[in-house]
Amino acid sequence: MRLICKVDMMSFKVIILSYLNSKLIYAIVLILLIQMTLPGCGRYSAVSEQQPAVSPAINEQPLAVSPDAVNNAVPYFDSNKAFDLLEAQCVLGTRHPGGPGHVAAKEFFSGYFRQLGLSCQRQDFIHRDKHTGEVLELSNFIVQIEGRDSQLDPLFFCAHWDTRPRADRESDPRLTSVPIPGANDGASGVAVLLELARVLKGHPPLHPVYIVLFDGEDYGLTSDEYFLGSRHFAANLPAPCFAAGILLDMVGDKQLQFPIEGFSAARQPELVEAVWGRAQALGLSEFVNSTGPYIYDDHIPLLDAGIPAINIIDFDYPYWHTLRDLPEECSAQSLNVTGRLLLDLAVNGL
Ligand SMILES: [Zn+2]
Repeated sequence: MRLICKVDMMSFKVIILSYLNSKLIYAIVLILLIQMTLPGCGRYSAVSEQQPAVSPAINEQPLAVSPDAVNNAVPYFDSNKAFDLLEAQCVLGTRHPGGPGHVAAKEFFSGYFRQLGLSCQRQDFIHRDKHTGEVLELSNFIVQIEGRDSQLDPLFFCAHWDTRPRADRESDPRLTSVPIPGANDGASGVAVLLELARVLKGHPPLHPVYIVLFDGEDYGLTSDEYFLGSRHFAANLPAPCFAAGILLDMVGDKQLQFPIEGFSAARQPELVEAVWGRAQALGLSEFVNSTGPYIYDDHIPLLDAGIPAINIIDFDYPYWHTLRDLPEECSAQSLNVTGRLLLDLAVNGL
C-alpha cells in the first residue's frame, strides 16, 4: 500500500514539472513540492521497513567487509571455509587405513596446520589387522593452542579423520566391501575443527585448547578393532588432566539434530548440561534436550581413561556407512552449528 503511494506522488511531480514554463511558477511549485515531499520522508522511511530505500548494492556493502576485518572484534566461524575443508578431504579419496587417501590426508593435515603457523604433533602408531595380519601405519594429530589463562586445565576437541573401509550398510552385497566416502562420517567433524583452529590462532581461547584428530575409529570388522586412535591417545596423554573433552562425529548432515548421546548423559551429566545449555543460550535449536541412543565412539576410551568427555553426534543419518555419505548430503549451515558452539566454549570458557 505505502509503496504504491510513493509511486503516485513521484508520477504527480513529473507531470507537473513537464508543463511548467515560467521560472517563477517553477520556483513556487518547486517549493510546494519540497514541502509535500518532506513530510513524506517519514512515510517513506516507514515504507523502507518493508522495502529498503537504498539500492541492493548499497545494502550489500557490509558483506563486502572481509571476514578477517570482522574477526578483529568478534571471532567468526566461517562455515563456508569449513565446508570447503569437508570437500577437500573427500577429494583426497577414501581415508581408510591402508588406502591412498589415508596417506594423502596425513600430508593435508600437516600442511594445513603448518600453513596456519600452529605446531602439530603427529602421534604415529602401528596396528596389525587381527584378521588379515596387515600392518597399518596410523596417526593421530594433536594441535595445542595457548590459552589466555594458562593456569586453567585445557579443553580438548576431537573427531576421527579416518573413513570406514567397507560400506557394510549398503543393501547390495556387491557394494558392501567398497570403502565409503565419509563426508559426514569422518570429514565433517574434522572440517569443523580445522576451521576452529584457524579462528583460534587469531583469537586465543580462555583455556588452553587441544585439537585432536583420531585415526582408526571406523576400521573395525569386529568391535575390538574400533577406536584405535583414541585408545592410543588415552594411553599416551599429552597433558596430565583436561577440564573437558568434546567429540564431534557426524555433525554435517543437512537434517541436523543432536539429542544427548546416552553414554555422555549417563557418565558426564554436568558437562552435558553445560554444553547443551550453552547451545540453547546461543539459539542453536539443533541441540535437543532429550536422550538419544547410546553410541560407542571415541569418547568411550577417553571416559575409561578418566577424561570427562562427551559425544556430539547426529546418528539419524540415512547414509551412514553407505556410498551415499557424500558432501551433497551435508551443508555448511550444519557445520556452523558445532563450529559456533565450540568457538564460544573456547573463547568464553566452559
Ligand atoms: Zn562410522
